[in-house]
Amino acid sequence: MQHERIPFNRPYMTGKELDYIKQAEAGAMLSGDGPFTKRCHKWLEEHAGVPTALLTHSCTAALEMGALLADIQPGDEVIMPSYTFVSTANAFVLRGGVPVFVDIREDTLNLDERLIEAAITPRTKAIAPVHYAGVACEMDTIMDIARRHGLKVVEDAAQGVMSTYKGRALGSIGDLGAYSFHETKNVISGEGGALLVNDPALTLRAEIIREKGTDRSRFFRGEVDKYTWQEVGSSFLPGELIAAFLWAQLQEAQNITRMRLEAWERYHQLLAPLEARGVLRRPVVPKECQHNAHMYYILLRDGINRQQVLETLKNNGVNAVFHYVPLHSSPAGQRYGRVHGSMQMTDRQSERLIRLPLWLGLTPAQQERVVGLIADMAGNW
Ligand SMILES: *Cc1c(COP(=O)(O)O)cnc(C)c1O
Repeated sequence: MQHERIPFNRPYMTGKELDYIKQAEAGAMLSGDGPFTKRCHKWLEEHAGVPTALLTHSCTAALEMGALLADIQPGDEVIMPSYTFVSTANAFVLRGGVPVFVDIREDTLNLDERLIEAAITPRTKAIAPVHYAGVACEMDTIMDIARRHGLKVVEDAAQGVMSTYKGRALGSIGDLGAYSFHETKNVISGEGGALLVNDPALTLRAEIIREKGTDRSRFFRGEVDKYTWQEVGSSFLPGELIAAFLWAQLQEAQNITRMRLEAWERYHQLLAPLEARGVLRRPVVPKECQHNAHMYYILLRDGINRQQVLETLKNNGVNAVFHYVPLHSSPAGQRYGRVHGSMQMTDRQSERLIRLPLWLGLTPAQQERVVGLIADMAGNW
């Protein structure tokens, strides 16, 4: 029997991307920080309510800038979840930092804020909370701990563009916040990212680090009469073609989020009966969090063979996927990081999680088919 294939992800285009790229080409300004980059900066600053936003070529790059700005020295410890993408840890390891992995919450799968304080040592320099699936960490508690212990907070808000915590944009709450515009995220530019610089004391250094360690940004503003090497930096900025593409997406960010939320809510309703039967658990969104429908995942009841579920879905044309292999059980995580306390929740949730297809253009009928296949299997669980 032939099944219609349902991919896991399909990038959404607004239709304006090529127009803006053409404009950039006609303007003959192709390197970074041209007119489209400036528009994106302004949009991000206004939208997130932050003093400075800087486009980067990826969220990974923004996190690497974060590690430099947090002044991570060899041996400095950074508290973070193990249940995250490698870049959260890698950015700090590049500076000689030591990731200290702390377990996650049962409900949101975010860093468990109740376990952070016990993991702090005299070497602790920063906390890197990750807003999984665009649902915020308990930021008030995390910021309070950081302030009392003199720690920097670098938010990995890669998945959190357009999400809020108590009305504040994710990425705008810590000292620094990192966004991703990778093709698999909600608002995209192929590869791309941004660093939100929320502490104005860090702005000048952020500009320098992003421009190869030079004060070129000040030179372009006419604030200095030549630019020179000021400190360690690299090239973290994207070219104008990427910024032009991103500008088309940012203008549609509200609509993109609204349409994704509709699809997310549909899964949520369709799956309610299965949760009521106890065969799976749906995502939990705390009331102070407005999310962006970045992801729809289910957590299978313990003991159900996830691989078999994924294979059955695949055999029926549905591409659903698992997510992170916890960093503390990866070769590099073991070499460069250490664990504080039990990783029981991280291990348990990562083993039973499945992400369902979610993209703009996915039809209600397709979503019903995905859930129907799961319901059929659940008949035997
Ligand atoms: C996608 C992602 C990143 C990396 O983003 P890039 O833009 O691909 O570098 C980092 N952290 C998390 C949590 C992510 O989901």
